[in-house]
Amino acid sequence: MADRDYDIVIVGGGPAGLTAALYAGRSKVRAVLLESKGIVEDGRLLGAGGQLLNTELIEDYPGVRSILGPSLAEIMTEQAQQFGTEMMAATVERIRVEPDGMKVVETDQGEIRAPAVIITAGGNPRKLGVPGEAEFAGLGVSYCAVCDGAFFQGVHLAVVGGGDAAIEEGLFLTRYASRVTVIHRRGEFRAQPILVEHARENPAVDFLFDTVVEAIEGERKVTRLRLRNTTSGEASSLEVGGVFVFVGFLPNTGLVDTHVDHDKAGYYVTDPMTMQTSVPGIFAAGDVRSQLTRQVTTAVGDATTATIAATKWVEEWARRA
Ligand code: NAP
Repeated sequence: MADRDYDIVIVGGGPAGLTAALYAGRSKVRAVLLESKGIVEDGRLLGAGGQLLNTELIEDYPGVRSILGPSLAEIMTEQAQQFGTEMMAATVERIRVEPDGMKVVETDQGEIRAPAVIITAGGNPRKLGVPGEAEFAGLGVSYCAVCDGAFFQGVHLAVVGGGDAAIEEGLFLTRYASRVTVIHRRGEFRAQPILVEHARENPAVDFLFDTVVEAIEGERKVTRLRLRNTTSGEASSLEVGGVFVFVGFLPNTGLVDTHVDHDKAGYYVTDPMTMQTSVPGIFAAGDVRSQLTRQVTTAVGDATTATIAATKWVEEWARRA
């Protein structure tokens, strides 16, 4: 085996990637985890954790009553490294599939080869791109109701978007908020009618149609949204204690140079038994995968399955060689 040959390459160092690294290490396969935002210091990868690094308090990870996202990321990274998976600060540019099925992972640190790749590259919530959005991120601007909803007990919240996520997460937020105002840029929802019906029946939810957010304002925290009606052109403002933005999610699923089956939103469709994509030897776990919800708990579950399946795949590959 050359220095740059592995059994499994894990792309991404969020909860799914770190779980894959843990299970690969314990299975004694030769694995490497690549994290684009990582820094290696004294042989240890710093800066892994993916979206955990942007999450305040986590209170829904079983076995841990309450922990800050970055602290959980640090523990997961240390635990994964303890079992011998290598970790590299590298940005993946492309994943090539050779005619014999070998995968070549092209990175800014050179090429790495392995028969199996587990893609845990996550994704990013689509942003509104309005003034105040970046400034108040974590100070009243959120992209995750399950993560942050409980911090807004008794507060009037705005939800932006008209898809399934906006309506589902808006309904979830009524557990905490005094009122949830859903702001949608059109007059009709994209969300499933049954979800919209639930929202309409909920007395804590109201709607602003044909309305866009032009700016998010506040002092230390969000206090107000500047709005504009898209049909009348009229400007208005809405006093709120927070705004949850659900205008789509952009999965990082553009790395493989061949076709990989995906759903209409771009998420990889995987075999439920193995997490294998439509490309043999390429597995997916966490936010890149087409599934009902995107939680730390589901990411680590996916990654466990993907790694055990990838390990079996590698054993089979070695037998065939
Ligand atoms: P989505 O279906 O793409 O909807 C995004 C919404 O945001 C749309 O209503 C869109 O408006 C609006 N939007 C986009 N850019 C905007 C902007 N710059 N300003 C204001 N509004 C903007 O995204 P999603 O709701 O995150 O769902 C993503 C995928 O996951 C979908 O396939 C969805 O079905 C699935 N999902 C399913 C469930 C479920 O089945 N329970 C739950 C969550 C997500 P327009 O309508 O005008 O385009």
